[in-house]
Amino acid sequence: MMGPPGSGKGTQSARIAEHFCVPHLSTGALFRDALEKDPESAVAKAAEVITNGGLVDDSVVMDVVASVLERYECNVVLDGFPRTTHQADLFEQWLVSVGKHIDRVVFLHVPNDELIERLGARRTCRGCGYIASLRLEDADTGIPCPRCGEDLYRREDDRPTAISRRLAIYETLTAPLLAKYVETGQLSSIDGTQAPDAVFRTICETLTNPI
Ligand code: AMP
Repeated sequence: MMGPPGSGKGTQSARIAEHFCVPHLSTGALFRDALEKDPESAVAKAAEVITNGGLVDDSVVMDVVASVLERYECNVVLDGFPRTTHQADLFEQWLVSVGKHIDRVVFLHVPNDELIERLGARRTCRGCGYIASLRLEDADTGIPCPRCGEDLYRREDDRPTAISRRLAIYETLTAPLLAKYVETGQLSSIDGTQAPDAVFRTICETLTNPI
C-alpha cells in the first residue's frame, strides 16, 4: 500500500487485512511499537528518527520486514514499505531469493492541502491503534477512542514541523517509486479523497480483478 502520509494507507490496510483474512504489516506501527516497548533495542535506536519525520535506514527496514515476512506463507498487506527506490531494490532481491512476489501495488492519491488538514486532525488510539480522523475543532477535546474507549493521542510525527518534513521526504524519496510500478504494470492508482468506504470498495475491486 503506497501513498503520502495521511492518504489512508493505515486505515485501508487494516480493513483489507481483516476482509481478506491476511496479516497487516505496517513498518511505521512496528517502529512505534519498538520505541514504546523496547527503547534500548537496535530497531528502536534506528527508529528514533521517526519522531521528527525522518526515514529509518533502508537496510534496517529491509531486515525487519524480512524477519516478519519469513513467518508467513500466505499473502500479506504491506503498509508503508518499500518507501525508497533502494528499499524497493533490496525487497526485489529478497523476494527473488525466497521465491515470492508482489501481487499489486495500490497507490492512494490525495492532494497535499487535504493531507495537511487530515494529519493535523488525526489522532491514534493508545489502546488498539485505531486511527481516528477527527474534525479539527474536536481533535484536542479529549474524545476517547470510538472503538475501545482508550485515550487518543497525537503522534509526534503528526505535529506541524514533522508533517512538512514527511511530505517533503515523500515527494523526494517515495513518489519516484511509483514510476517503477507503473512500468511493471503492478500499480493501481486510487482516488483517496473518496469516503473511506468508497476507497475500500475500489481497492477490493482492484484486488479481486486480474491486472
Ligand atoms: P507510517 O506509520 O507509515 O506513517 O510511518 C511512520 C514513520 O515510520 C515514517 O515517517 C518513517 O519515519 C518510519 N517508517 C515507516 N516505514 C518506513 C520505511 N519503509 N522506511 C523508512 N522509514 C519508515
